[in-house]
Amino acid sequence: MKSINNANILCNNCNIKTKKQILIKNNFQLRTWKCLNCHEQWIHPLDEEAYLKYKNMKNKDYEVKLRMVGNSYTVSIPKEIINLQENIFEEMNTLIKMSLESPEKLSLFFSRKL
Ligand SMILES: [Zn+2]
Repeated sequence: MKSINNANILCNNCNIKTKKQILIKNNFQLRTWKCLNCHEQWIHPLDEEAYLKYKNMKNKDYEVKLRMVGNSYTVSIPKEIINLQENIFEEMNTLIKMSLESPEKLSLFFSRKL
């Protein structure tokens, strides 16, 4: 079985082949097919679903507990946040980048592209 991602999709208004593109919405990448004639576009259903989850989580504040493990502190990252990341966390012990943005703000970078 082939993936829908490799299918040729025709615009139902113009009956011409659409062009595969990446749409960036709120820093989120969505695979789309766009008609270059009428500019209508269709979003990959899985990406659209992931984007909606992301949008709901984006401005949510999480409360996590700070714990001591050996000489380091740990926090638990909610599973729903990790589940949004493709492939990166298939293996445990993945190295991710962390930086102290201000004395009160710590950032984690799930992508090496940033
Ligand atoms: Zn069209």
